[in-house]
Amino acid sequence: MLRVALAGNPNAGKTSLFNVLTGARQHVGNYPGVTVEKRWGEVTSGSRRFSVVDLPGTYSLTSFSPEERVARDELLHGDHEVVVVVADSTALKRSLMLLAQIMQLGKRPVLCLNMADEAQQGGQEIDVPKLEAMLGFPVVETEAHRGRGRNEVIAAIERAARQDRPTPPSLGGPLDAAIAAVADALDCGSLAPAKRWLATRLLVDDRVIDELGIDNSKAITLAAHEREGLEASTGQDAALLVTDSYFAYVGMLLDHVVKSASRDDARKTSEAIDRILVHRWLGLPIFAGVMFTIFWLTFTLGEIPMGWIESGFAQLGGFVDGLWPAASESPLRSLIVQGIIAGVGGVV
Ligand code: GDP
Ligand code: MG
Repeated sequence: MLRVALAGNPNAGKTSLFNVLTGARQHVGNYPGVTVEKRWGEVTSGSRRFSVVDLPGTYSLTSFSPEERVARDELLHGDHEVVVVVADSTALKRSLMLLAQIMQLGKRPVLCLNMADEAQQGGQEIDVPKLEAMLGFPVVETEAHRGRGRNEVIAAIERAARQDRPTPPSLGGPLDAAIAAVADALDCGSLAPAKRWLATRLLVDDRVIDELGIDNSKAITLAAHEREGLEASTGQDAALLVTDSYFAYVGMLLDHVVKSASRDDARKTSEAIDRILVHRWLGLPIFAGVMFTIFWLTFTLGEIPMGWIESGFAQLGGFVDGLWPAASESPLRSLIVQGIIAGVGGVV
């Protein structure tokens, strides 16, 4: 049976797609030793059947929260033939950063452009055939929360399974050469398809390789040498160079396939505002200012409606009071006027 994994950023719609694919045929449990939820199930469509697992959301394969670690280990060591990368179409840059890393893992991906409805509402149009041609594997647009695109995803998974592993992303001449050299020196057994990703991690001195339990001292020495060369020739820290290169690759893809992105402008404005509001030094003073303004407005602007409420209740009290003869000692009158109306008025 074909084995499929769903990967993607948190909130991209993986679980929605998983539910659409599997229907009721799903199981929920935990990954061993961690409180990270595991969902897996079976997909049937006509005579076709395959298993699918919904991986925890992750932004990259390098961070170390339990969720991200689980996702990374599953992608690295799992035996999934196809990885469906679920992307939030309204935040493609971030989603495709993960895709670029998964491509380096030597997986057969399917790119699922989810939230197509929201992206279209925002005025974004994607040239899907062109993106597919550039990437070399299937790309489909979906609206997972409505179940739109289920059959297309299933067809794309089958198509991807029959294809060769796609070529890894091009990260620029010098970096590609360094990655290739380190990858050649790596001896990683069953992880051979992931060589380019492992080599990239070694170049930034991430010793993920230590966990693999293989002696790779030769590759580690070579990686240190290549890193020095890269840093000398680019004048940039190797880790920064790698991140920038992923970004440049993703940016190049988007330049070619995104036809209009008015949403992008809206995002830029909101990002510019965020940069000020959550700034390291300005953030707290701005927060204090906002709190003070709210406090001040409550007591100054609040005076006005407070006056209306007070005089309103005074009038109502006077009117009801007038329903009794002036000298009446009726307990009902004092209950309603002094108790209920004055009481409720005070609270309001
Ligand atoms: P996960 O964190 O990747 O598992 O994401 P979920 O499947 O939990 O989805 C996050 C939210 O996005 C949920 O509220 C979904 O209903 C919603 N959602 C999922 N797919 C789509 C879509 O294609 N369009 C829209 N508008 N919302 C979606
Ligand atoms: Mg989920």
